[in-house]
Amino acid sequence: MYITDLSILEKEAADKEEENLQFRNHLSAWNHKDLDKLVFELNEEVTAAIDCTLCGACCRSLMINVTAAEIQDVSRKLEMLPGDFKAKYIEESSQGNFIINRIPCHFLSGNKCSIYTDRFTECREFPHLHKPHFKTRLFGTLMHYGRCPIIYNVIEELKKKVNWCITENKARIK
Ligand code: SF4
Ligand code: SF4
Repeated sequence: MYITDLSILEKEAADKEEENLQFRNHLSAWNHKDLDKLVFELNEEVTAAIDCTLCGACCRSLMINVTAAEIQDVSRKLEMLPGDFKAKYIEESSQGNFIINRIPCHFLSGNKCSIYTDRFTECREFPHLHKPHFKTRLFGTLMHYGRCPIIYNVIEELKKKVNWCITENKARIK
């Protein structure tokens, strides 16, 4: 049974700050292939058991980058002119990058994305646990440990899988 209550996650993140720092240091010594394999397996199990449409926490906390092509696509789906869409929803950086101009995201309705099937690539890819080289994203992943139930549960399951022991400050492969 996975924990999805965001108030519990927030408390866990505060209580386990030091533990997670040590775990991150431990994982940084692993090779990519072994660690990615474990994370991919756990991510599949956890993601299948967690309903993102009941959560929406990432949509309330992330800055979402979007592409010019996505602006065209989503504005067409919403039957808006791209210029109107940009004026309403997008901020453009001095380097020409586009981000959604509000956190929480404009398109969040309750805990659900109102444009779910057309959501942006960055939304689809979060929390990025399906991508290779997990350990290069450890810092960013653990930043969301107290907010994203998928990340929280994958990390906690990973600790169990590798026999992580905070008192010994090391882990053993079973
Ligand atoms: S577009 Fe949808 S999935 Fe992406 S941040 Fe906004 S509400 Fe969330
Ligand atoms: S990706 Fe994480 S934070 Fe976002 S909706 Fe799913 S469980 Fe919640």
